[in-house]
Amino acid sequence: MKTTERDFAYFGAQVRHWAAKLGLHDWDIRFEHADAKDILASVRCDVGAKVASMTLAKNWATDAITDEALGNTAKHEVLHILLADLCDLVSSHVPPGFVIGVEHAIVRRLEKIL
Ligand SMILES: [Zn+2]
Repeated sequence: MKTTERDFAYFGAQVRHWAAKLGLHDWDIRFEHADAKDILASVRCDVGAKVASMTLAKNWATDAITDEALGNTAKHEVLHILLADLCDLVSSHVPPGFVIGVEHAIVRRLEKIL
């Protein structure tokens, strides 16, 4: 299924909602609606510049595209921004693959309570 311009706008609004709720006012969040394989969305965080580059995939392979799915995906990606400073710091001390696994475990737990 393809995400539409309306989906992209809704996703962006949800990202802004969660970023505000979590007090991430110091981050400049930028958006891209792009072809991406095997993901719903992604975020790349430049911790030094405090720029988060958020991508919503144009093609969702398996998931139905609903407002709930877009909102949950936005929340998930914003939680990565929340943890970005910590993960960047930890990454300099342990292998990156280890950090990503632990980061995702925390993100999934936070998703459930927010
Ligand atoms: Zn993730």
